[in-house]
Amino acid sequence: MDRKRLARAVRRGLGLRCPRCGGASLFTNLVRMRARCPVCGLPFEREPGYFIGAIYINYGLTVGLAVAGYFLLETWLAPSTGWQVTIWGAFAVLFPLWSFRYSKAIWLALDHLVDPTEGERPGPGSAGAP
Ligand SMILES: [Zn+2]
Repeated sequence: MDRKRLARAVRRGLGLRCPRCGGASLFTNLVRMRARCPVCGLPFEREPGYFIGAIYINYGLTVGLAVAGYFLLETWLAPSTGWQVTIWGAFAVLFPLWSFRYSKAIWLALDHLVDPTEGERPGPGSAGAP
């Protein structure tokens, strides 16, 4: 895989930008995603279930950070189990709320990296399909 394309996909994903052109933000506000890119026309909203991969990314990030954070905190400060559960329970609730936009953007960027033509083909329910 081309490193330049990978770096560009990661940069645009973390920047919440269009994976194709990078010319527009994926979101109009904190939660609302644009239906398509206003610059290049790439559809951001896809078929139902498309963003299930973003949920996996968000879940993996949350669990990975919580487990790593638990062991780091245990090693350095050794707080009580009650504090650990409180801290990482709150983290497991709040972190995904903050990171869901990044998870969706990274998922879109990965999808575009793997298949740059995705989103340009007509879907099975569209008028252009045979
Ligand atoms: Zn675009």
